[in-house]
Amino acid sequence: MNGSNFKIEQQCPQCGAPIILDEADRILSCKFCRTRIYLATEDFFRFYLPPAEGIPENIYFIPYWRIKGLSFTIQEKDIVVEHNGSLFSYSLSSTIKRVDISNKYFDINFLSLDSKLFPHSLGLRPQAMKLKFMGSNKHEGKFLKFPSKSSETIINAYQKRTDGVYKAIFIGETTSVIYTPVYCANNRVYDAILKRPFELMQRDMEIEQALISAEDEKWHVEFLPLLCPDCGADLPGEKDALIVFCDNCRAAWDPSGKKFSRVKYSVWQETKDDITYLPFWQLKVKVSGIKLETYADLIKVANLPKSPSEVWAQTPFYFFVPAFKLNPSLFLRWCRQLTVTPLPENLTADFPVKKIYQVTLPVNEAMESSLLTLASLIADKRNLADLLSSLNFTLEDSSLVLHPFRVSAGELIHTKLGFPMDINALNMGTHI
Ligand SMILES: [Zn+2]
Ligand SMILES: [Zn+2]
Repeated sequence: MNGSNFKIEQQCPQCGAPIILDEADRILSCKFCRTRIYLATEDFFRFYLPPAEGIPENIYFIPYWRIKGLSFTIQEKDIVVEHNGSLFSYSLSSTIKRVDISNKYFDINFLSLDSKLFPHSLGLRPQAMKLKFMGSNKHEGKFLKFPSKSSETIINAYQKRTDGVYKAIFIGETTSVIYTPVYCANNRVYDAILKRPFELMQRDMEIEQALISAEDEKWHVEFLPLLCPDCGADLPGEKDALIVFCDNCRAAWDPSGKKFSRVKYSVWQETKDDITYLPFWQLKVKVSGIKLETYADLIKVANLPKSPSEVWAQTPFYFFVPAFKLNPSLFLRWCRQLTVTPLPENLTADFPVKKIYQVTLPVNEAMESSLLTLASLIADKRNLADLLSSLNFTLEDSSLVLHPFRVSAGELIHTKLGFPMDINALNMGTHI
């Protein structure tokens, strides 16, 4: 299952037409009846692999966690600089500490149950198989309940196994549960996709008892019609958009938690035509363990080539993070670039904004980048490992800032700051 992306088969809840979704899609739009619906859940999606046709026995669905995304590791590097003086033949060397942040794509799955009876992982599944949302067919079989804590526990264990100066940081990972079907026949337990018995160390009878007595999980995906809760207008948005903007009343909404919650946003307005606005998260983060409340504090911590002034001492410090998926090294570069660039004052959003690039990175995932940004900005890296472990990050407030970009020679150029954004880096294969 490594690196695979499943498709999901789902009927239009309005007219019943079959629709194929990508795993990252959050908006279902039906081309037959034009219904547009947001797919919501309180925690994570639960899918199942459909069993083969014509199995008369009861089908049981075994849950597996699936976690995929990018993990970042911070490493320290000593760089030895040699100073040679040929005339008097002396040699001096000094050591400079540098920080290296590397990233790695991962796609793992493992049994969600605390049980030794079932295979530890899903095994290879043909990618052509289409998943279905759990709850879409009431008669499909029994879905086993699983303890919801184990995914965090496993992530923590995985984070601590890495060899950096700090635990690995996951950004933009998606967690879901995939159920795989089994059935019992002739005193054996069968994989209901391949119709083949498992080799489970001859404990099949025990497994059958466990399946019969297990509690069942109740879940179904929530369908939210994409209508603005304030004014009733249709909400536009690409299929993987996490935040939807109302053109009519200029509100932004996050529908993910089964209801619409308002998202604050402002716009760095550009009067020229042909502007695409890219969304960035502006995060007010309380960092305990280091003084980082104002922009003047940042100038000191990062040793920025700016003279301290009264204005900077009054300017609150924010982390800025792309609110969309992006090639990982560019992602970190934008975090750094915008975090060291204070915004103009009094940005508003009281005018119509056309062409907003979709938000695909949720705020809690954006928040994970704060430590990486800070690690790369801190000028004095001598005791970085100790310092990083002593810091604590608390998100106090967040909002979106829409930055103006214009296409020019295959690049998007920030019309105010001049920074280029490679268009191909948006939505590349392996991205955050
Ligand atoms: Zn339809
Ligand atoms: Zn509205």
